[in-house]
Amino acid sequence: METTYDAIVLGLGAMGSATLCQLAKRGRRVLGIDRFSPPHDRGSSHGETRITRLAIGEGEEYTPLALRSHEIWREIERETGARLLEATGGLVVSSAGPRATCHVQDFFANTLAAAKRHGIRHDLLDAAGLRRRFPQFAVRDDEIGYFEHEAGLLRPEACVAAQLDLAAHRGAEVHRGEKVLQFDQEGEVVRVRTDAGRYEARRLVVTAGPWLPQLLGGAWPGRFVVRRQALYWFRPKAAVDDFLPGRFPVFIWELPGHAQPSYGFPAMDGAAGGVKIASEQHEEATTPEEAGREVAPEEARHFFEEKVGPYFPGLSGECVKTAVCLYTMTADFRFVIGAHPEFPAVLVASPCSGHGFKHSAAIGEALAQRVVDGRSRIDLSGFSPAPPGTNRTS
Ligand SMILES: Cc1cc2nc3c(=O)[nH]c(=O)nc-3n(C[C@H](O)[C@H](O)[C@H](O)COP(=O)(O)OP(=O)(O)OC[C@H]3O[C@@H](n4cnc5c(N)ncnc54)[C@H](O)[C@@H]3O)c2cc1C
Repeated sequence: METTYDAIVLGLGAMGSATLCQLAKRGRRVLGIDRFSPPHDRGSSHGETRITRLAIGEGEEYTPLALRSHEIWREIERETGARLLEATGGLVVSSAGPRATCHVQDFFANTLAAAKRHGIRHDLLDAAGLRRRFPQFAVRDDEIGYFEHEAGLLRPEACVAAQLDLAAHRGAEVHRGEKVLQFDQEGEVVRVRTDAGRYEARRLVVTAGPWLPQLLGGAWPGRFVVRRQALYWFRPKAAVDDFLPGRFPVFIWELPGHAQPSYGFPAMDGAAGGVKIASEQHEEATTPEEAGREVAPEEARHFFEEKVGPYFPGLSGECVKTAVCLYTMTADFRFVIGAHPEFPAVLVASPCSGHGFKHSAAIGEALAQRVVDGRSRIDLSGFSPAPPGTNRTS
C-alpha cells in the first residue's frame, strides 16, 4: 500500500539527517529512509571529527552556510543536550612557493579575504609567530599561518544521531535498514520503491552520498567520482598535553613540495586515542561496494614518513587507529544541489568533495525551505547542476 508524505528524504547521513530534522521542524509529514542504521561507517559521515571553519576559502558562497550552520549546531545542542561543536581554534598554514593546495588554488588568500569580509575573528602569523604559538608544527621560514578563533571540530556521528532523534521527536518517520531501489515522478507525485514497500510524496530529497552515482544512473553521467580516503591516529612521543584541545588546534597545512595538504585534530581521547591526521587522494576512483575498508600497516607507515613525522616532531609513528571514509567528488570541488534533470519534484544534494560536513546543518535547512516555501533564505543557485552533457553554467 502506498502512503502519501509531504516529502521523503533518501539517505540519512549528514545531509539527509539535517534535511529531515528541518522538515519535521516545519510540521511536514516526512519519511526518512536509509539502507543502514545511521550514524554508520559505510559512507562519508564517520571518523569521530570533522573540521569546521567560518571563513571559507573554497568560494564566496560557502561562508554564509558555515555561519548559519554554527548557529543551528548550537540550537540543536541546547535542545538535545548533545555535544556537537567544539571551538578549538583552527590554523591554516601555507607558503608562497610550490605547495599543496586545499581544494582551490587561492585557498589561503580566499580564506583571509572571507574573514575580513564577514568580520570573522582571526590572527595572521609569520613563521616566528607560528613557532611561538604552536611549537608542535615544524614550519619552514617561508610559511605563514591564519588562525581562526571560532573554528574547531564537529562530532559527525553525534550530529547525525542528534538530528535523527530530533526529527523523530518532531514526528518524522525514520526507516532504517531499508534500501531504496527506484524512484520516479508521475505527474505531481514522486513514487519511491524500496526493498520493503512503496511510498508516494509531493517531493523527494536525494542525499545518498557516495551511492548517488548509482542511484542517479544515466542522469549526470560522469559528474561524480567516489574516492577512498584513509584516516590515521598517531600516539604522541611524550606527554599528550601539547596535543590537547586548547594547546593544539584543528589545522589544514598546504605542505610545501606536496600535491595534497594534510589536516588534523587535537587528541580528543588522551594519549591512547592518538592525534588524528589525514590527507586526500584524488588519483583512484572506487565505489562504496569495492572500496577497501582496511588500512594496511604499510599504508600507515608510509603516510607517517611522508606527511607526519617531518612536520610534527612530537608525534610517534605508532598508529593507534585507522578508518576509511568516502569522498563523493566533483571535478571542481563544488557542491551539486538542485533539481533532478528528469524529475522536477526531486531535489538532489551532493555537498561533499571533502568539505561538506561543516555546511550540512544550513544545507538541510535550505533544502527544507526549498521543499516547503519553494526557495531558500541562503541562495543555493550557485550549486545548481548544469544539464547533462554541458558544463556548469553558474
Ligand atoms: C575522510 C573524510 C574527511 C572529511 N573531512 C571533512 C571536514 O573536515 N570538514 C567538512 O566540512 N567536511 C569533511 N568531509 C566531508 C563530509 O563529511 C561530507 O560532505 C558529508 O559527510 C557528506 O554527507 P552525505 O549525507 O552527503 O553522505 P553520507 O553521510 O554518506 O550519507 C548518505 C546516506 O545515504 C544512504 N543511502 C545510500 N543509498 C541508499 C539507498 N539506495 N537507500 C537508502 N539509503 C541509502 C547511506 O546509507 C548513507 O547513510 C570529509 C569527508 C570524508 C570522507
